[in-house]
Amino acid sequence: MPKPSRHSFRSPKIARSATFASIAREYDLPSYITSKKHLRWSTPIEKGIAWEIVKKIVRKKETDCYTCGRKDLEGQNASTGHCYPVAQTGSNNALSWDLRLIHLQCGYCNGPGQGEQGLYEERIRKEYGDAFLQEARQRRYKVDPIKNWDAKVEELKNILQSLDK
Ligand SMILES: [Zn+2]
Repeated sequence: MPKPSRHSFRSPKIARSATFASIAREYDLPSYITSKKHLRWSTPIEKGIAWEIVKKIVRKKETDCYTCGRKDLEGQNASTGHCYPVAQTGSNNALSWDLRLIHLQCGYCNGPGQGEQGLYEERIRKEYGDAFLQEARQRRYKVDPIKNWDAKVEELKNILQSLDK
């Protein structure tokens, strides 16, 4: 029996992968991601992979800026923006992975516009209702970490696949 590592919660699939290249192939990561350090998060690596899948989901669903409406965003001008900055809510917080609160934003809104939280919340209210917005606001201060990144990757993979159909 191999000694359980501190990543023992890891997906057996990922743990068995011999190289980062094989992981990149399996999850169809963009070509500029050639090692763990190019991921937004790499501890655990599943967290970084989960984020790459989130980006794909957002790009598959949306083409325009969620907050200013700028159309057909591409390349550097298309970013994946949180309603509530991850720096405030915490990158492990389930809230930071709630797809209702993650949308496509243009380089301005997600950059100098600092996320345009006011416009973002208005759009959330319109789309998902005021009760959800109030709940989301409360959840910013709750400790609700994602404990199983392996399951998160699976969940997101399934969502992405369902969008392909
Ligand atoms: Zn914008």
